[in-house]
Amino acid sequence: MVKESYERVLEQVALACEKCGRAKSSVKLLAVSKFHPFQEMLALYQLGQDAFGESYVQEALGKMADFEKEGFSPNFHFIGHLQTRKAPLVAGNFQLIHSLDSEKLGLALEKALLAQNKTQDVLLQVNLALEPQKSGVAQDQLLPLATFVLEHCPHLKLKGLMCLPPLEAEGEKARPYFVALRELRDKLALSLQLSLPELSMGMSGDFPFAIYEGATIVRVGTALFGPRPPK
Ligand SMILES: *Cc1c(COP(=O)(O)O)cnc(C)c1O
Repeated sequence: MVKESYERVLEQVALACEKCGRAKSSVKLLAVSKFHPFQEMLALYQLGQDAFGESYVQEALGKMADFEKEGFSPNFHFIGHLQTRKAPLVAGNFQLIHSLDSEKLGLALEKALLAQNKTQDVLLQVNLALEPQKSGVAQDQLLPLATFVLEHCPHLKLKGLMCLPPLEAEGEKARPYFVALRELRDKLALSLQLSLPELSMGMSGDFPFAIYEGATIVRVGTALFGPRPPK
């Protein structure tokens, strides 16, 4: 039941915050609903969950429309790999894009936002382990990309960093990646003289460790909705 799992996850978030002396309100729970049907999201929304993370553009827009039909408009975050050609569909439609990782994508979003006269909060996704199959910018390209965004994409508002540790780094083994992302954020904020408050890190298997290391957004799918059905 989604109600029980929701309560359990909220409790685990609260407990992790307590353990490291952080306020519960400093961590946002993002319910990752990719591949899960709208009805399950609606049930969670009616229990009080107001932010959903989606990885696929068409699926996300469809679910937004489903909520609209019910007269609701929860916050949607885009957390998947974003193709440049789909940037116009995403720009301005999500509370936060977690996965900006190239100048080309930055420019495509900027162009779409300029046309709509809107701004868009974004995170830079970092590929910490340099996994070839994963998106995200390499650590040594982070400062150049951030500088590019600040100089050339005035409609993008840089809020922080996101990472997705290697699959085999389960549970506490992911913790060094969370430390690394926090340190990268601190260094980048200092270099740019910019506040970068958001750290999007931690998923079902490791979010308490991400919270210990400063996560402000944890992206939780399976622990809320159960295993993902095939697409
Ligand atoms: C699917 C996904 C998640 C959720 O993973 P779970 O292990 O199901 O909690 C989190 N972040 C991203 C980027 C994802 O694609």
